[in-house]
Amino acid sequence: MARQLVDSFRHQGMRQNLVRKLKSKGIKNENVLKAIQAVPRHYFLDPAFVEFAYEDRPFEISAGQTISQPYTVAFQSQLLEIDPKSRLKVLEIGTGSGYQAAILEKMGAKVFTIERFRELFDKTKKLFEQLHSQVKVFYGDGFKGLPAFAPFDRILVTCGAPEIPENLVNQLKTGGMLVVPVGAGPVQKMTRLVHREKGDEVTEFGSFRFVPMLQNKT
Ligand code: SAH
Repeated sequence: MARQLVDSFRHQGMRQNLVRKLKSKGIKNENVLKAIQAVPRHYFLDPAFVEFAYEDRPFEISAGQTISQPYTVAFQSQLLEIDPKSRLKVLEIGTGSGYQAAILEKMGAKVFTIERFRELFDKTKKLFEQLHSQVKVFYGDGFKGLPAFAPFDRILVTCGAPEIPENLVNQLKTGGMLVVPVGAGPVQKMTRLVHREKGDEVTEFGSFRFVPMLQNKT
């Protein structure tokens, strides 16, 4: 049976505190902050961990994977520069719990997301159905992207890639952006690439820690 999902005033209050904390850490984009206020993060965690859902920390989900820390979700979402009115087509690599995808949807994007772990894919796909979300979840290898649905306005990678994945760059529209944590070790450099006809512009934005981006097992 599907789990009952309740978003109480208490949860909403906890989210307000979280939004305040994210602002104090430098997150300014109103579209991002509104989405974090609106999306119940506790839906995306195991029910036993509801008390921790609104702390600014990462958390273990299934299959040894983690739901990113709210600050990291906010930081990556801000780098994507999503205008709520433009209905941008966004591809996420690393669905995990689905929280980041739900934030992007709330920001006004049309979201496609890929997960390589069957167990997580099944669980999160069911959750999105229960939430009547339009997020499209795919089981597969993020290194391949989603050629059938390309090109995308934005691509977001939520696992640490050893280098900028070339296939993904090729699935961007001209003027489109790829945000990806790059680094083979435990620490990655947050990297944003803007795809231009005359050559891509690459900028780095500090260090973060993500679980590794791995080739699909299948
Ligand atoms: N965006 C997620 C964060 C999940 S952690 C959230 O909001 O919860 C990163 C996820 O990337 C993990 O679930 C991991 O299984 C997945 N992943 C790793 N390598 C991948 C690949 N090559 N293709 C697709 N998903 C991948």
